[in-house]
Amino acid sequence: MLRPQRRLAVISTHTSPLARAGTTKAGGMNVYVAELSRQLGRLGWEVDVFTRRDRLDAPHAEELAPGVRLFHVAAGPTAPLTPMEVAGHVSEFTDGVAEVTQRGGGYDLVHSHYWVSGLSGIELARRWQIPHAAMFHTLGAVKQMFQQPEPQYRIAGERRVVNCADVVIGATSHERAFLIGQYGAEASRVQVVPCGLDVEKFHPNGLKAARRRVAEALPELGVFDGPGILFVGRLEPAKGVDLLVQALPMIEARPDATLWIVGGDERDEAERSRLRQLAEDGGVGGRVRFVNAVGREQLPDLYRAASVCAVPSAYESFGLVAVEAMASGTPAVATRVGGLASTIAHGRTGMLVSQRRPEQFASAIGRLLSDEPLRVRMGGAAANAMSVYSWQCVAASILDVYEALLRERAMSDWQRESCCPDPAESLLVAAS
Ligand code: UDP
Repeated sequence: MLRPQRRLAVISTHTSPLARAGTTKAGGMNVYVAELSRQLGRLGWEVDVFTRRDRLDAPHAEELAPGVRLFHVAAGPTAPLTPMEVAGHVSEFTDGVAEVTQRGGGYDLVHSHYWVSGLSGIELARRWQIPHAAMFHTLGAVKQMFQQPEPQYRIAGERRVVNCADVVIGATSHERAFLIGQYGAEASRVQVVPCGLDVEKFHPNGLKAARRRVAEALPELGVFDGPGILFVGRLEPAKGVDLLVQALPMIEARPDATLWIVGGDERDEAERSRLRQLAEDGGVGGRVRFVNAVGREQLPDLYRAASVCAVPSAYESFGLVAVEAMASGTPAVATRVGGLASTIAHGRTGMLVSQRRPEQFASAIGRLLSDEPLRVRMGGAAANAMSVYSWQCVAASILDVYEALLRERAMSDWQRESCCPDPAESLLVAAS
């Protein structure tokens, strides 16, 4: 057993765990950092999360949960920046974290999230002489595979993190294989721990009552009695919302189906107009409803109120939305990629679609919408199957990884050399 009161430094440089998930650059990673930190706090760890200060009214420090503090560290302009812009301020951020901790200090381990944080994690682990666990959440080389251009310095930065971290935690065996095959990670240094789920929040609890509550809380979504197809997530091209809008008129068996699109904010108005136009062109303008990203307290009812949850992404390293929906008793219909291929059991807890085409999604969704017994059976099986992703299980597995690192450190005369001096800026200079 680990001794109590371990201290953990969590690095989430480019985005805060308090940012509203489902908007431009906040999603599964933000949820993950917040929830894992809370869970570790409950288990007696003292957790300090560090993020870059991007707004003037952010306090120096605030309590996220018992035992969990969030520090906003100045680095670069106090304004929102893209992750790639944040990469240019890594050294400043790292120095800022080190300065804050001079007043507290004494961490046992550093856990970084995303490659930009990983670069800070490398340097902090060297300064503090402690182990470093890194997680990427998304990988540049994977995005490139799906025709999304990524700067070369991101891939180079990821390689550095892979080479220098004591352990890299991937969400699926698919990610692990990718880290080994494409990034040259040492197999013994890559562990798989899936993402977690709040099973107390996400569970079945009646479709009709959920619809009533959703109609009250989110009138933009309209009141309807027919089948509801739900999309939840950031409104970015890789998520494939347009594919769903195109699929809707093709679901001939259920011309009464509605598509709910939940996610984004006022910055996404142009994308929403494009989707509205696409719906008009397909003759289904009145059957597509939008609402801005909602808080986590509203999500369980949204999932329960839907007949199916569609995830037509080009890629998902894990795909929390599908897992949350299934845990709430709603089958998922998703592309057979990344984490989705391992969390969804095709034909049992949802449907996996191999070709990312509107007609394929229309056919899979149409099948579920026209067969209520099948849908109910799948929803029940899905809710049962998702218990393995409970935070209790996931945090226990993460603690096993930490414990192994701390044991390794205690048993060797562990001396950390500088792995990658001046990490981020040298990458950016090399790229320019
Ligand atoms: N999310 C949310 N409110 C919204 C839309 C999304 O809280 O309106 C959350 C969603 O519940 C999930 C996360 O954002 O936990 C998205 O994670 P996922 O892994 O599906 O996608 P990512 O954004 O990481 O690509």
